[in-house]
Amino acid sequence: MSEHRHLTGKIVIATHNPGKLAELRDLLAPYSIEAVSAGDLNLPEPEETGKTFLENARIKAGAAAQVSGLPAFADDSGLAVKALGGAPGIHSARWAGPKKDFSDAMAEIERLLEEKKTSDRRAQFVAALCLAWPDGHIEEFEARVDGTLVWPPRGDQGFGYDPIFLPDGHERTFGEMSAQEKHGLPPRGKGLSHRARAFMQLANACLR
Ligand code: IMP
Repeated sequence: MSEHRHLTGKIVIATHNPGKLAELRDLLAPYSIEAVSAGDLNLPEPEETGKTFLENARIKAGAAAQVSGLPAFADDSGLAVKALGGAPGIHSARWAGPKKDFSDAMAEIERLLEEKKTSDRRAQFVAALCLAWPDGHIEEFEARVDGTLVWPPRGDQGFGYDPIFLPDGHERTFGEMSAQEKHGLPPRGKGLSHRARAFMQLANACLR
């Protein structure tokens, strides 16, 4: 098995999504890493042409590392609804349209579930994380969290589809949870979210 490469110094967080940037910054906070965002550096947003979360994370991290000359950290994530064959999946951001209105995207999921007349409301959030270095080396990790979808949406914390996602074993949606509860890492948090879980794998392998 190949050695994991450790991440040190300054990195680029390859996202233009403020919600994800805040979560990724929180996750990196305990490590001595200086993180600048792709937005701060005016990096272009590459087209996400991959067919999987991991492929898209690799495209974003690879492009940012090449353009910036720094190691880059990217996430690709989304909501996969079982009864909808895994949709919206890698198209989760796109379902919100150009206005990035997730009320519309959540209503669309509910409309499709009603149309199917299904009682199967199971869903997963999936997160793929990729670290890419300018010399082409990559490290990647994927994790998920299982839950069910509620309607109507509940809570105004978090972002995206958080208000309809009730993680298994909990009574509050991600939209009703504090940032610490949703993605806080041990020892203070439980590493509940898909992104926190993928990050714990990454931290074990690549951070000190
Ligand atoms: P992308 O990874 O930038 O392609 O976008 C993923 C999309 O999935 C986001 O814009 C959100 O809509 C959704 N998503 C991913 N992770 C979360 C989460 O933790 N909460 C709510 N929505 C999420």
